[in-house]
Amino acid sequence: MLSQSASNLGLSKVYGAFINNEFQPVRGAVFPAVAAATGMHLAEIARCGPQEVEAAVLAAERAFPAWSALPPEERASYLHKLADAIERNATRFTTIDTLDIGRGLWETGIDHAIAVSQYRYFAAAIITHEGFGRPIPDGYLVAKREPYGVCGQIIPWNVPAIMASFKIAPAVAAGNTVVLKPDENASLSTLELCKLIAEIFPPGVINVVPGMGEEAGAALTAHPRVAKLAFTGSSDVGRIVSAAGAHRLVPVSLELGGKSPNIIFPDIETADIDAIVDNVTFASMYCNGQSCLAGTRLFIHDAIYDDFMAKLIASMRRIRVADPASEGPLLGCVVSARQGQRVQAYIDIGREQASLATGGARVNVAGCDAGWFFEPTVFETANDSRLAQEEIFGPVLSVIRWNDYERMIHDANNVRYGLAAGIYTTNLKHAMATADRLQAGNIWINSYFNLASGSPFGGFKESGIGSEYCHETLNMYTHLKAVTIQTQVKPAWYSPLS
Ligand code: NAD
Repeated sequence: MLSQSASNLGLSKVYGAFINNEFQPVRGAVFPAVAAATGMHLAEIARCGPQEVEAAVLAAERAFPAWSALPPEERASYLHKLADAIERNATRFTTIDTLDIGRGLWETGIDHAIAVSQYRYFAAAIITHEGFGRPIPDGYLVAKREPYGVCGQIIPWNVPAIMASFKIAPAVAAGNTVVLKPDENASLSTLELCKLIAEIFPPGVINVVPGMGEEAGAALTAHPRVAKLAFTGSSDVGRIVSAAGAHRLVPVSLELGGKSPNIIFPDIETADIDAIVDNVTFASMYCNGQSCLAGTRLFIHDAIYDDFMAKLIASMRRIRVADPASEGPLLGCVVSARQGQRVQAYIDIGREQASLATGGARVNVAGCDAGWFFEPTVFETANDSRLAQEEIFGPVLSVIRWNDYERMIHDANNVRYGLAAGIYTTNLKHAMATADRLQAGNIWINSYFNLASGSPFGGFKESGIGSEYCHETLNMYTHLKAVTIQTQVKPAWYSPLS
C-alpha cells in the first residue's frame, strides 16, 4: 500500500541543501532516505558539510536585517500562512513521515496537527511578547527584547514535524533567521516543508542543511557567525553541542532524553482502572516508545499491583503491531535497523536481569520485511536496573512495585533524567505534594501526555536546559537590551561643571 502511495507523494529524486529558498545542486556525497518498514528507496539527500553550512549561514545572515525589522504582526502572518499550507498538505506530509520513520499514519497525523498549532501559537505569542519599562528620575528605562541573529538548530528523528516546528516557529517569530539540520533518519518531511517555505517566506529566513551529525551538525555548532544554538536529541550529543556553545560563548538550549516515572496510587477509583491502564499503555507505547516524554518507569502500588498488572498485560496484548500504513491505532516499526538492534539488546538484558510480564518478541509484518517491529514489552524490575535507568527509546516498559511513599519518591527521582512524570490518584493532597517533590519539567496529574500549547516543555537535570512550546521560549530566542533615556543632559558628579 505504501509503495503505491510513495510514487504519488511528489518527492524529489534528490534533495540538496535548502538555501535562500532554493534547493542547491548536489555536488558532493549523498545518503539515501529509506522507508523504515519496507526498505524502499525514497530519495537521495545531500550529505552537507562546512561548505553548505557556510552558504546557509551567509544567507540567513543577509536575510536577518530585513526580517528582524518587520513588525511582529507581519512576521506572524508568514507563520499563519505556513500553518495553513501544512494543513492543506497534511495527508501528504503524514504519509511521508509514516514512510520515512515507520510510525502509524494516525500518529504522524497528530504530529502535523501539533506542528500546525505551534506555528499558530508563536504567531500569536510574538504579538504579546513585550519588554518592560519604567519611569526613572527625569527619564525612562526601556528594556526591549531583540533577536540574536542566525540560529543553528538540530533536531532528532522521532517526531520530525513537531521538532521542526518547535525550532522554527519561535525563532523566526522572534525575528531570528534559521539554519536547521534535520536528522539523517528523518529528513524528508522537513525538506518537503522547504517547498512550502519557498512559496511563503522571504529568501534566507529559513535554511535547511541535511546531513550527518558529525559533519553538518558539527559544522553548524562550530560556525563562528551562528549566534544561538538549539538542540533536541540525546543527552550525550547535547553535551557535545553544549561544549561547542560554551567554546564560542553563545547561548544553547537543549531538549534531551527522558526516563519518566508514571505513579499509580492505591486510592484510584476501581471504576477508573481501565481508563488509567489505557493512559499508562499510551504513555509508554505511543510513538513506539520513541518519545523523550514516554512514561517508561511505571510505579504501581502494592495494594492494587496484581489487578492492575493483569489489566495492563491485557491492554498491551490488544495493541495491533502492523504495517504503519494501515488505518487506526497501531504499533509500527522502530525507525531503523540500528534502533531495532538497540531495542533488542535491551530486551535481551531484561530477559536476563528482570521478569518478563508480556511481549519480548520481534514481529514479522507481511510486506514490511525491512522493519523492526516488536511486541509491546513489559518487564517487572527494580528501579536501579539498567532497564529502568537507561533510555531505551522503544516499546519497552519497566514496572516497579511500591508500598513506601518516601522510598517511591526517592526512586522516582533517582535517575539522571527529569523530563516528565505522571501521577494517578483521587487524593488532591497526594497529587499536589507529589508534583512538588518530583524533579521533572512536566508533571501530568491523571492524564499523561497532556500537552496544551503554552505549557512549558523542558527538562530538569540531564533532560535539558530551557523550555519550548510556551511564551517563555521567545525569551530563549531574544536577548534583553536596556535603553535608558534622560529628558535632558545633566552634569555628571565628577564633572568640573558640578
Ligand atoms: P541524537 O542525539 O543521536 O541525534 C539528534 C541530532 O543530533 C541528529 O540530527 C544528529 O544528526 C545530530 N548530531 C549527532 N551527533 C552530532 C554532533 N556531534 N554534533 C552536532 N549534531 C549531532 O539523538 P537521536 O538518537 O537521533 O534521538 C533520540 C534522542 O532524542 C533521545 O535521547 C530522545 O529522548 C531525544 N529527544 C528529546 C526530545 C525533547 O524534547 N526532550 C524530543 C525528541 C527526542
